[in-house]
Amino acid sequence: MAFKLPGFFSCDIGIDLGTANTLVYVKDEGIVLREPSVVAIDTATRRAIAFGDEAKRMLGRVPGNITAIRPMKDGVIADFDVTEALLSHLINKVRRGSFALPRVVIAIPSGITAVEKRAVMDSATRAGARQVYTIAEPMAAAIGVGLPVEEPAANMIVDIGGGTTEIAVISLGGMVVSQSIRVAGDELDNAIIDYMKRAYNLLIGERTAEEIKITVGSAHPLDEELTMEVKGRDSVAGLPKTIHITSQEIREAMSGPIGQIVDTVRTTLERCPPELSADLVDRGFVMAGGGSLIRGIDRLLSEKTGLPVTVASDPLSAVANGTGIFLNNLNWVRAST
Ligand code: ADP
Ligand code: MG
Repeated sequence: MAFKLPGFFSCDIGIDLGTANTLVYVKDEGIVLREPSVVAIDTATRRAIAFGDEAKRMLGRVPGNITAIRPMKDGVIADFDVTEALLSHLINKVRRGSFALPRVVIAIPSGITAVEKRAVMDSATRAGARQVYTIAEPMAAAIGVGLPVEEPAANMIVDIGGGTTEIAVISLGGMVVSQSIRVAGDELDNAIIDYMKRAYNLLIGERTAEEIKITVGSAHPLDEELTMEVKGRDSVAGLPKTIHITSQEIREAMSGPIGQIVDTVRTTLERCPPELSADLVDRGFVMAGGGSLIRGIDRLLSEKTGLPVTVASDPLSAVANGTGIFLNNLNWVRAST
């Protein structure tokens, strides 16, 4: 060929299809897109009309014929058509009009079924991918935080996302034990909503609950406890109301779901083969996902397991970075699943 067609050459992309956030990694470029996993749908035509930040802004502020959906909310695929629309949007955004079809690696929750996995792969193919490969999210997270997963030693990751917490012990490139529970950031938000209603007759929305969690939420007593002003609607009088809350209260409010996460980390350890358990005594585990940013969650888990715990330096990017490293090392001929 005498000249190069612009954008003709293929690109390889990695997608973290998270329950709360979707990230796209382009080979040689890094993370190029980071948006909430939300799709706005016109209920009359069933067509997707907005994605990501734009769709999230529409939540609760649009006429009745538009709904915003989080297709991966519980770590399973709630709506295949919406998931396909989301994948198609992401792939087209990254292709930027290029003729070449990208090769795609998708990180999927470890709890999804073989049928759902197949459906995601088919969706990506219809959305324009030339070749599709999937990687389990905890594996991608472990690779992304730099754990030496190929070594014959225990590499443990605890990823607390929006809809699911995924825990895995990896050795020799495979997941030896893994557990996924539907208790993570969203459940903490719900626990805060319930507490406000119970303790103050105050109705608050999911966004306010998340803001409270991020501003004053904690899993372990703080050196200096925090306070915050919260606005909502009084459930009895029906009028707007402002109250003041403390970090102690919110810690108590979140203690149920936090306890479930602690229990699952412990049962994962109980299922670990003894040689790998022995490795973990020194190596401990790494935390990733937005939920690992809850104040003191690392300290609590360390106390409850007796293991050293580290939080990844960029926990929200771990899975996407893992798909990127995976892309660089992937032999596409061999990995043609
Ligand atoms: P997913 O992989 O499931 O899409 P993420 O890893 O992106 O999830 O994490 C999203 C969750 O992390 C949300 O529940 C969000 O509220 C929570 N989160 C993000 N930042 C913080 C923070 N600073 N403190 C506590 N929770 C946080
Ligand atoms: Mg995730």
